[in-house]
Amino acid sequence: GEALAVSARVAPLGSRLVLLLVEDLTEARRIEAVRRDFVANVSHELKTPVGALSLLSEAVMDASDDPEAVQRFAGRMQIEATRLTNLVQELIDLSRVQNDDPLEDAEPVRVDELVAEAIDRCRHQAGTKQITMAAGGADDLRVWGNRGQLAAALGNLVENAVNYSPARTRVGIAARQIAAPGGDMIEIAVTDQGIGISDKDRERIFERFYRVDPARSRATGGTGLGLAIVKHVVASHDGEVTVWSAEGQGSTFTIRLPEAAAARDRAQQHPDLD
Ligand code: ADP
Repeated sequence: GEALAVSARVAPLGSRLVLLLVEDLTEARRIEAVRRDFVANVSHELKTPVGALSLLSEAVMDASDDPEAVQRFAGRMQIEATRLTNLVQELIDLSRVQNDDPLEDAEPVRVDELVAEAIDRCRHQAGTKQITMAAGGADDLRVWGNRGQLAAALGNLVENAVNYSPARTRVGIAARQIAAPGGDMIEIAVTDQGIGISDKDRERIFERFYRVDPARSRATGGTGLGLAIVKHVVASHDGEVTVWSAEGQGSTFTIRLPEAAAARDRAQQHPDLD
């Protein structure tokens, strides 16, 4: 509709019109290609665990007189089933954050609660790897937004920090309030001492299904969707996410979100913006 309106305005300029239509077609084609890639990726990601489950169930049947082998295969079936569940859950999360307007039921959300929830979510994994988790600064801070979506975003960052770190390292979560031209923001930084991310990969990790090392990601139950979810959630909350990293030394993912009172003031001053 917008493209038509624009073309109507420039109609007297014949060649400009053609150019606009061509640009519009190119954009439509690009969107179609992205959609096709996404469907192909989803199919592939679903086929891998389903194929493994099918092979493993055959192996169980063949090994029925060897209880030890049955145990081993059943254990691997459980891992594949968990992987499928994770993938489906993250696909649902992703479609939700892409389609829902999070600010429709926005509320002040306590940052210390978000942090505690995120830590809880990885407690088991961190414990197995003897990773120490330390949080600071979150008391009394509140962000403005959709509680469920914000919890998913921070949870993904902390989960990644634990997943991509060696044993006996430290994961830190630091929150603070900062002044910004449009009103105060809350900054939450998740720092790890993990494998880090190269400059080249850093540009792509927020894409759906992009992983630096697919085998490593799958081994930890990763889906390649976590950071895509983070990016969407933060953007739809009028925030931003940045990453600093040095290969072999670690990474810091920082999200900035509108502070609750500042966001409410802004909405009251400019009700038409909502
Ligand atoms: P995944 O499910 O694979 O973790 P994400 O979208 O959360 O998917 O992350 C995409 C990729 O970015 C990961 O596969 C990993 O290669 C890289 N990555 C994300 N977080 C970190 C981190 N804290 N340290 C190192 N690499 C990371």
